[in-house]
Amino acid sequence: MSSERIDTSMPSPVLRKSSDVIVSGIQPSGALHLGNYFGALRQHIQLHETHEAYYFIVNYHTLTTLRDRDKLRRYTLDVALDYLALGFNPQAAYLFMQSDVPEVTELAWIFSNLATVSQLEKGVAYKDKIAQGLPANAGLFTYPVLQAADILIYGGTLVPVGADQKQHIEMTRVLAERFNRTYCPEDDPVFPVPEPYILSDVAVVPGLDGRKMSKSYENAIGIFEEGKVLKKKVMSIVTDSTPLEAPKDPEHDNVFTLIRLFADSETRERIAEAYRAGGFGYGHAKKELLTLIDEHFAEARIRRKELARHPDDVFDILREGGRKARERAGEYMERVREHVGLITTYEAAP
Ligand code: ADP
Repeated sequence: MSSERIDTSMPSPVLRKSSDVIVSGIQPSGALHLGNYFGALRQHIQLHETHEAYYFIVNYHTLTTLRDRDKLRRYTLDVALDYLALGFNPQAAYLFMQSDVPEVTELAWIFSNLATVSQLEKGVAYKDKIAQGLPANAGLFTYPVLQAADILIYGGTLVPVGADQKQHIEMTRVLAERFNRTYCPEDDPVFPVPEPYILSDVAVVPGLDGRKMSKSYENAIGIFEEGKVLKKKVMSIVTDSTPLEAPKDPEHDNVFTLIRLFADSETRERIAEAYRAGGFGYGHAKKELLTLIDEHFAEARIRRKELARHPDDVFDILREGGRKARERAGEYMERVREHVGLITTYEAAP
């Protein structure tokens, strides 16, 4: 596990056309955090009303690390609430649970016969666990294969994710190409080859300790944390020991990296100037950050509390999203089975 600073330099992605099919997933493995928000969710919300979009709560993926059914259920509802509170409009796009489209596991199996072990051994999520001395199960090892199935089963062409997922999307591209080359005529491929959509200014959001913010590192600030809990976390962000009076470099500070994500350009410049001038301590910067977080999520917090009182409505939205997504997946799977030579005698999925 590395505590090195994160390199946030990335080329900007190109938003292509409105005919792109946007596909992305988030694990229900704990409260969603600022890394999930700036790396993925914010883009999901921005894109979903202008594109065909499929966003799923990847509960199968979460089985790689979580073995507590009550938590899995609670976190699943939490992710849905987060999307809706942050502005997801169920009339415009599809939000659903991965397990409502069980065909993804079928496609993952087909893909796992095209993926090579050496390729999977290079997977960042798997390598990271091994490096930490944590036990890695076969599900974690084949995580990118299930992810490829998730993306390709809806014909996804653009995948808004954080930079930590870049390599996994590359594996999806390889599997799409390999499937097409192996099973399809050259002029009639089944799968489009998707592109990642990664915003350069957020790339990887640092956590309290400066490593990548992650649910599994216990270094995350939850999107919907507030009050004392939030304050305590913000105040614990790791900084260097430059004394209060001394000038500071905003470009190499975790607090400023987070401030930059929330602040408009004027506020950003004012705070950066205060850093450089000296007499402005990290405690001051943390207070600025706290205010920015509170302002940014004020409305969403109110909406979320209201939505949380009607969980049945939220599950209705997920059910309907899952039904539509499964229809789309069914069309792809019919073609896949036909190309691969799998004969099925049961009725196709609804
Ligand atoms: P986690 O690592 O917290 O379990 P997930 O694997 O569920 O998060 O990732 C969901 C989405 O959030 C992905 O698109 C991922 O790239 C993005 N993401 C997660 N952590 C960060 C981070 N620290 N910075 C930027 N994006 C992130």
